[in-house]
Amino acid sequence: MILINTGNGKGKTTASLGVALRALGYGKKVVMIQFIKGPWKSGEDLFAKACNIPTGKFRIIKTGKGFVNLPGDALPFKEHKKAAEDGLQEAKKLIASKKYDLVILDEINNAVELKLITAKSVTDLLKKVPESIDVILTGRNAPKSFIALADTVTEMNEIKHAFSKGIKAKKGVDF
Ligand code: ATP
Ligand code: MG
Repeated sequence: MILINTGNGKGKTTASLGVALRALGYGKKVVMIQFIKGPWKSGEDLFAKACNIPTGKFRIIKTGKGFVNLPGDALPFKEHKKAAEDGLQEAKKLIASKKYDLVILDEINNAVELKLITAKSVTDLLKKVPESIDVILTGRNAPKSFIALADTVTEMNEIKHAFSKGIKAKKGVDF
């Protein structure tokens, strides 16, 4: 199955981790490849170690270099592009190897919107996903071509977000 979590509301990445939790419960193997997100750690990165889960069962690979075109981004665009292209290659390799049953491509929609990778390079990959593997794509503004290929598409709709009240990202909730 191909699933997409998109929209402006909170919950796209965390919902994919909820599916990961379910899959792990059935002994499935899960890998999340994070585009854009930089080297900083989130709770999900600490989870495997805290629970003694080997990387062969649950692994998070960060291929991003942090925010693109936002304040604090000192990196040339081509480095972000290279990082995203490397992430996509890694995804291709892992999907073809069938080592993992669930492959989460986190923030990949944003990577396409930012023109770090092309939508076509992703749809070409999606068309080749083996029957036994489920793939979740997350990120705002999912391209129409992804939606056309997906089985389940969910749009997170923001009703309100603490951020607009000036509440900063909270440990254990937002990261
Ligand atoms: P989460 O990782 O919490 O599931 P998300 O994947 O839906 O969020 P992203 O756009 O990837 O959303 O968000 C990255 C970070 O920004 C997360 O810490 C998230 O909690 C936070 N965030 C999500 N939605 C909003 C929003 N509408 N306003 C401000 N911050 C947000
Ligand atoms: Mg996210």
